[in-house]
Amino acid sequence: MRRRGWVSFGDCLVRTADVKDCIVVGGGPAGLTAALYLARFLRSVAVVDAQEGRAGMISATHNLAPFPDGISGPDLLERMRSNAMRHGAAIEFGTVTAVERLNDAFRVTTDLWSRTARSVILATGVVNHRPPLSVMDHDRGLERGLIRYCPVCDAYEVRGRRIAVLGSGAHGFAEARFIRHFTSSVTLVPPDGGPDLARDGVGVLEAPMAALALSDRSVIVTLDTGATHAFDTLYVALGTSPRSDLAARLGVRRAAGGCVMVDAKQETSVDGVHAIGDVTDGLDQIAVAMGQGAVAATAVHNDLPANAPAQ
Ligand SMILES: Cc1cc2nc3c(=O)[nH]c(=O)nc-3n(C[C@H](O)[C@H](O)[C@H](O)COP(=O)(O)OP(=O)(O)OC[C@H]3O[C@@H](n4cnc5c(N)ncnc54)[C@H](O)[C@@H]3O)c2cc1C
Repeated sequence: MRRRGWVSFGDCLVRTADVKDCIVVGGGPAGLTAALYLARFLRSVAVVDAQEGRAGMISATHNLAPFPDGISGPDLLERMRSNAMRHGAAIEFGTVTAVERLNDAFRVTTDLWSRTARSVILATGVVNHRPPLSVMDHDRGLERGLIRYCPVCDAYEVRGRRIAVLGSGAHGFAEARFIRHFTSSVTLVPPDGGPDLARDGVGVLEAPMAALALSDRSVIVTLDTGATHAFDTLYVALGTSPRSDLAARLGVRRAAGGCVMVDAKQETSVDGVHAIGDVTDGLDQIAVAMGQGAVAATAVHNDLPANAPAQ
């Protein structure tokens, strides 16, 4: 028997008012853009964010077109959260521990609650593998631009400087080669050492790295031979791990490296589940994450029935 105000998903009976049109997992630039669009499409949307994203690590970004003087990641996120909330999106801080399918809907669970949604957007990002530095030194290095992660974002800021790239193999060398366009002093530092395969104007330190330290203005690399090398900036090219465990448990298809695979509308291989931002394969940039958020939100909206009551 049907009960007014309730809707059943398989064995579950849920109050209609408690079913969200969409729950967005992750409140970085990708998730918050999707939330803004969905709220402005008059959809009920909630964002759950663990606040451990890459955007929050940015001391100042200079490649976002509307901010010629730069903006910090935390400031950008705060503006995006308040804009989404102003339009009706709910934003909660917490960690989603599971997303399960219930026939035509999804049950999303955190440490504190379980809620039901008609669709889910995964915007969980990636985790950078970090260099061997204490958290305090790492954060101080980021703040001062001594430690950097993203040459596409900010190689412009270090043009002409002495740059080290901590990484190895094809990935490390490709990053060093990219930076070589901006400065004539680029040295690849393979953490475990490696043959001197210097080419294309990129130098290589052969001996394994024994220690990494920061002074006020430089990064000091000590090799196990005892030799020390000073640089103005060290780019970390140790790779990333996509946060795609929730997607994997939902049965979503992933690429070899763990990124979530999506179609042109950002939909995954599981109906009703979209993925956006760094957790998908592509250019890991704020502008790209925002664009994907807009695409996914529009697709989610178009897949849901119209809200306005019949005349
Ligand atoms: C140091 C640094 C500087 C950068 N500078 C620039 C720059 O200048 N310009 C630029 O365009 N890009 C820059 N980038 C890249 C940029 O930060 C990312 O491309 C962008 O943040 C991707 O957005 P996102 O929303 O996909 O992921 P993120 O910003 O990483 O956000 C993902 C969010 O999801 C949350 N989350 C993950 N799992 C869960 C879960 N289970 N439950 C709840 N929440 C969860 C995380 O806590 C996080 O808050 C930089 C990156 C770094 C590391």
